Amino acid sequence: MVGNWKMHGRMGDNATLLTEVAAGASALQKGVRVGVCVPCPYLAQSQALLSGSVVQWGIQDVSAHAGGAFTGEVAAEMAADFGVTYAIVGHSERRAYHRESPETVASKAQRAIEAGLTPIVCVGESLEEREAGTTEQIIGTQLDAVLLVLTEEQAAGIVVAYEPVWAIGTGKTARPGQAQDVHAFLRHKLLAKGASVANVPVLYGGSVKPENAEELFGQKDIDGGLIGGASLKSKDFLAICRAAQIVMH
Ligand code: PEP
Repeated sequence: MVGNWKMHGRMGDNATLLTEVAAGASALQKGVRVGVCVPCPYLAQSQALLSGSVVQWGIQDVSAHAGGAFTGEVAAEMAADFGVTYAIVGHSERRAYHRESPETVASKAQRAIEAGLTPIVCVGESLEEREAGTTEQIIGTQLDAVLLVLTEEQAAGIVVAYEPVWAIGTGKTARPGQAQDVHAFLRHKLLAKGASVANVPVLYGGSVKPENAEELFGQKDIDGGLIGGASLKSKDFLAICRAAQIVMH
């Protein structure tokens, strides 16, 4: 279960949220892994408050470059200095607002791996693309670009998140069966890269709430969740984590 705080949080509120999440997560079974991806300025705070807890922390994006004259960007190696485990790459908000191409996202995943981070590669289709029947083509292209630049061993170490763009922050959730169909398609693509790659966790993201979490995570190929809005409230985020524990497969 990975929380994506997006551009939310302030020092004081974060301290409460991180402490509550760490305390709640300690009561979960070991098989449920929990992480939070926070805004860059709060990586040090996350490291200070989460070190020694069961909760890992991550960054929401990394540069496609290893370093150099790229004002405002953050290199994966810099995030690694703060004990970061996860790096979200290719979130739909970055693909849409920053025009990140599948190739750019692939470079970001590579930089994350080189720095010892686990990239969480987000893929997803817009409503227009779904209605045009091009969901598999769109997310297939997005995932293929990443798999193309990675070795089988590297690919086996990534995490994939299916996030239908029309379900992010909208309150609209994909029906569990609808999400399962896409997850099965993604699993098939991962398997084509190698047997070990088929075990990559495939998370679902898009308006996951305590009320719908159990049914979504009960699907065969849904291994966890990338949680936006609901990860900002410890009560909701932990309730979602507990739902995952109930249906863990
Ligand atoms: C996200 O931003 O990754 C996300 C899934 O957001 P939300 O849960 O708010 O839809």
